[in-house]
Amino acid sequence: MATREECPEIRREIRKLCSKYGDAYWRNLDRDKQYPEVFVRELMETGWLAALIPEEYGGSGLSIREAGVILEEINRSGGNSAACHAQMYIMGSLLRHGSEEQKRRYLPRIASGEIRLQAFGVTEADAGSDTTRIRTFARREGDYYVVNGGKIFTSRVQHSDLMLLLARTTPYEQCEKKTLGMCLFLVDLHGAGDAIEVRPIDAMINHETNQLFIRDLKVPSENRIGEEGRGFYYLLDGLNAERILVASESIGDARWLIDHAVRYGKERVVFNRPIGQNQGIQFPIAQAYAHTEAADLMRFRAAALFDAGEPCGEEANMAKLLASQAAWAAANAAIDTYGGYGFAAEFDVERKFREARLFSIAPISNNMVLNYIAEHVLGLPRSY
Ligand SMILES: Cc1cc2nc3c(=O)[nH]c(=O)nc-3n(C[C@H](O)[C@H](O)[C@H](O)COP(=O)(O)OP(=O)(O)OC[C@H]3O[C@@H](n4cnc5c(N)ncnc54)[C@H](O)[C@@H]3O)c2cc1C
Repeated sequence: MATREECPEIRREIRKLCSKYGDAYWRNLDRDKQYPEVFVRELMETGWLAALIPEEYGGSGLSIREAGVILEEINRSGGNSAACHAQMYIMGSLLRHGSEEQKRRYLPRIASGEIRLQAFGVTEADAGSDTTRIRTFARREGDYYVVNGGKIFTSRVQHSDLMLLLARTTPYEQCEKKTLGMCLFLVDLHGAGDAIEVRPIDAMINHETNQLFIRDLKVPSENRIGEEGRGFYYLLDGLNAERILVASESIGDARWLIDHAVRYGKERVVFNRPIGQNQGIQFPIAQAYAHTEAADLMRFRAAALFDAGEPCGEEANMAKLLASQAAWAAANAAIDTYGGYGFAAEFDVERKFREARLFSIAPISNNMVLNYIAEHVLGLPRSY
């Protein structure tokens, strides 16, 4: 590919690590719906998932630009970093809003890989995209909160030690502002026992995502992050980082798909010529390539602003939108190039096709991203 690559040393190291986990590793996990435990453990032991934890807490204190390149390269190798990406960024709420005592207690152990904080309980069945309508409630009782409710699509919870949980502490109807009255808690998943029932969701991709039923879960008040009632703002605060990292993963997917489509288009001969000679095959790949490169520029623009401590909501949202669309364009181009073989699991294109589709919907749907751009960037009236 023609573009000059940013962070070449990181790319080289991640490529070396990922080369040990080839297509068959990911394909078999996908078939058996298994978690990439060995891969994730190696990534943690080598410190790559601690990229965003500052050095004073045992991490490597890298920039979001570099962190994005790590995840991009995992997906570009044919892997799926959604299995562990949250270990990189969920701790951001703790880092920015936790007390010094909480940070000292957890961050060094997250950085060393001793404990995993990669489950994030926000989405609820009845609230959907309208997070302010969540009903999971944390009632204060002395030194504890007692939590009741339920979450849906809580990913990686069976492979995490801690979960960041969003719950209401004041009912919606009693709040002066609907974005107030929620708290973020660090929940010890091992200590929860029967108070959290986990029901795995059989999903289109191998993602280890679950429905949670929470009954009388006792959370010590010292595990609340920041001030009472301001949890939604702490959540929002971490979203730009999430958008930039997820955009990077989509760019990795897009590049894997484009590379494969180009290679196959040159090799496969039908009607006595390579199929890639047909414009019907090459134009969609070229289009996806252009789209990916544009998304890449926006991703690095957002990352540069983020790393400089500047506002970057507009750029981070646009990067996530463009990158997820580029990955989807590349997925369709790859399927069309592979023809029937695109549907055969052994070529891995159908797996990447499914994985690439996720980022148009989660962690936030592109409609909500467009709502953000329309309302907050362009000043159009709020539509909902
Ligand atoms: C594999 C997977 C993993 C996930 N992991 C997690 C996780 O770890 N933690 C977690 O908390 N959540 C997780 N989620 C949930 C994810 O964040 C939500 O699915 C997503 O935010 C959309 O919410 P919803 O599914 O309830 O859709 P809904 O809110 O029901 O929306 C359905 C559709 O309607 C559209 N829509 C709704 N309102 C509007 C509007 N006003 N304007 C325009 N369009 C609108 C949406 O954009 C969407 O396309 C995961 C989801 C999946 C599929």
